[in-house]
Amino acid sequence: MTDTPAKIPAAFNGQPVPAKQTAEGVAAIAGMLARFPQTLAMVLQQVPVQTRQHLCAPCVITRIGWEAVHGSELKAAIAAAGKAYGLDDGDPRAAQLDPGPHLPPALQPGGPQGLPPLTAAITTVAGTDVCSEHIPGRPGSQKLLVVSGALSPSALAGLG
Ligand SMILES: [Zn+2]
Repeated sequence: MTDTPAKIPAAFNGQPVPAKQTAEGVAAIAGMLARFPQTLAMVLQQVPVQTRQHLCAPCVITRIGWEAVHGSELKAAIAAAGKAYGLDDGDPRAAQLDPGPHLPPALQPGGPQGLPPLTAAITTVAGTDVCSEHIPGRPGSQKLLVVSGALSPSALAGLG
């Protein structure tokens, strides 16, 4: 044994690193590793996670046709919904709001030419995502007693 500190092989910079400095570095890394799970959890909480919910294809086709006919009324209703929430004209967030209550009465969900609901698909038949209403070969007007999948406010209004 000698009184001189143990020499460590040269580091990448070519300078010898005293054992004490190496020990401090290892302790610092160990400290960071101890906090790593919490840090990772914090980062993951900030990552938006989206699960893709498919819509019923026949419902989407019906909605596209309806929007082709009633597009101007729908745009006005979206603008009115945005205004009701205090959004500026042209704010894209207005499109996230439910335009149903702002449509003319005949075009409101459930009305004579009401906004068709965009229903979540519950299954896939022959490669097409369908809701319970649009399953090919569905017997009569039988409805499922238990409906799964998220429904939009418009869809819920349409069922009401
Ligand atoms: Zn459908």
